[in-house]
Amino acid sequence: MEDKNLLIANLLFPDITQTPEDMEKRFPERALAEGAKVTRIAPSPTGFVHFGNLFPAFVSERLARQSGGVFLLRIEDTDSQRRVEGAVDTIISSFAHYGLVFDEGVTANGDSGIYGPYSQSQRAFIYHVFAKDLVERGLAYPCFLTKEELEDIRAQQEAQKVLPGCYGRWSRYRDCGFETVKQLIDEGKPYVLRLRSPGKEGGRITFTDVVKGKLEMDENYVDQVLLKSDGIPTYHFAHAVDDHLMRVTHVVRGEEWLSSLPLHLQLFRVLNFKAPKYLHISLLMKQDGGSKRKLSKRHDPEAALTYYRQQGYPVRAVREYVMTLLNSNYEEWRMQNPALPLEDFKFTTAKMAHSGSLFDLQKLDDVSKNTIAAMSAAEVTKQVLDWSRDFDPKLHALLSADRARTEKIFEIGRNDAKPRKDIAKWSEIRGYTDFFFDSLFEIKDAFPENVSPADTKQILTRYKSIYSEKDDPQQWFERVKELASDLGFAQKPKDYKNNPQLYKGHVGDISMVLRVAVTGKTKSPDLFSIMQILGKDCVIQRLCSAANKIKE
Ligand code: GLU
Repeated sequence: MEDKNLLIANLLFPDITQTPEDMEKRFPERALAEGAKVTRIAPSPTGFVHFGNLFPAFVSERLARQSGGVFLLRIEDTDSQRRVEGAVDTIISSFAHYGLVFDEGVTANGDSGIYGPYSQSQRAFIYHVFAKDLVERGLAYPCFLTKEELEDIRAQQEAQKVLPGCYGRWSRYRDCGFETVKQLIDEGKPYVLRLRSPGKEGGRITFTDVVKGKLEMDENYVDQVLLKSDGIPTYHFAHAVDDHLMRVTHVVRGEEWLSSLPLHLQLFRVLNFKAPKYLHISLLMKQDGGSKRKLSKRHDPEAALTYYRQQGYPVRAVREYVMTLLNSNYEEWRMQNPALPLEDFKFTTAKMAHSGSLFDLQKLDDVSKNTIAAMSAAEVTKQVLDWSRDFDPKLHALLSADRARTEKIFEIGRNDAKPRKDIAKWSEIRGYTDFFFDSLFEIKDAFPENVSPADTKQILTRYKSIYSEKDDPQQWFERVKELASDLGFAQKPKDYKNNPQLYKGHVGDISMVLRVAVTGKTKSPDLFSIMQILGKDCVIQRLCSAANKIKE
């Protein structure tokens, strides 16, 4: 029996002379302190980075960092049909953008670290060493079933209502002799290498996932493909070899891989590897009407990581939001420690959600508003300029022409006891700052309806002659109040409320008329500060122009 396997192994892998022991020596155990975790992310370069990819990435990064371990980047590029030009750079720059720093792995300038190569396409030789060993030990075999034969088997299995796949009696090449194999190979018949699964139909396995806890699942008994007909490994086989040889201790990945876990654990067993700990992260769900569904690459623009950059969510806000979804006690910690860096939070797997986290853009906006409200005007200015350079060059030109003035714009309301929380993302800045620039200014909102056109015109013309740039905020407001009473409006909203028959309205109506004339909108930050930044000439000019347009 052994001879047969050895003969087949040599026939399939004539050039492989190294053994698994050689590989163990080449990639030795890491000399790390007790408890240090080695984690990785292992994206495929498809050109698309899903927002959900940030979750395993953040968890992996935190676990490694907090334990003094290693966080590495491996590129799983074995599927040549899905490989996209430039996709590896996209992966590297996307994660770098979100502050994820790798200790090891693929970088923009090649590999870094001694456990590489870190791209699976460059590791064929290593996989073949282990594949050959499995064949030698009777745990893998070449399978020559054609596509048609496989389809036929599947149809029969469907008719008999049994598990689809190549296994047991369905697997014609499982127990082939050397001569038959040799003959088929000599004939040039294509083949894949399959696991000779030691699993039993009806067998069960138990397993403890770090996040999901104890799980019981059907044992794998399907002879899954390990190497495809071109000799390239499947994800299942490659990840087992890689995570073992890169000495990964904790595999953090999406829940979609949970169903493959019995196969993966079996692979670790037949390969004589100690299995890493697994953390399967819940899928991101989106509320869609009355039901929840997966955040979908096809239907939801926010599924793409690029969306957040284009929209101009600050990196810190996205990180904050991801943390609130990842650890149930994060928000509470943040409330108690508003000024501390996120890295000071003690991330624990015990506080991770066991089932689907709900993705909610509204919640992200709230988190982001808080994050932006806590930034200094100088930081907002810097981030807005960085963002607009790429995504709104026209706005960038306006904002960068006088940086000090731009900073003053973002200063408004920022140092108040309750800072304004009205910006969620940089793409809102155009609408927030447009009226500071004559080229973008236009009257968008209507003047208040409860003020007659004649009064509106009066307010604008009278105010024009009393406005003084030298006023402080109190003096400024005094003038508005005086104007109110001169024109028959109450100086205090309360007075008007108590005796509406005595007044035309109250001081708030006066400010609203001025606000619409000067900013074009009924909602804006503090009007006094806006007027200061615009300067007297501009204020007067806008008051005149608005007054001229009013038809009494
Ligand atoms: N290449 C796999 C993916 O992109 C990685 C899964 C894993 O982290 O093991 O989904």
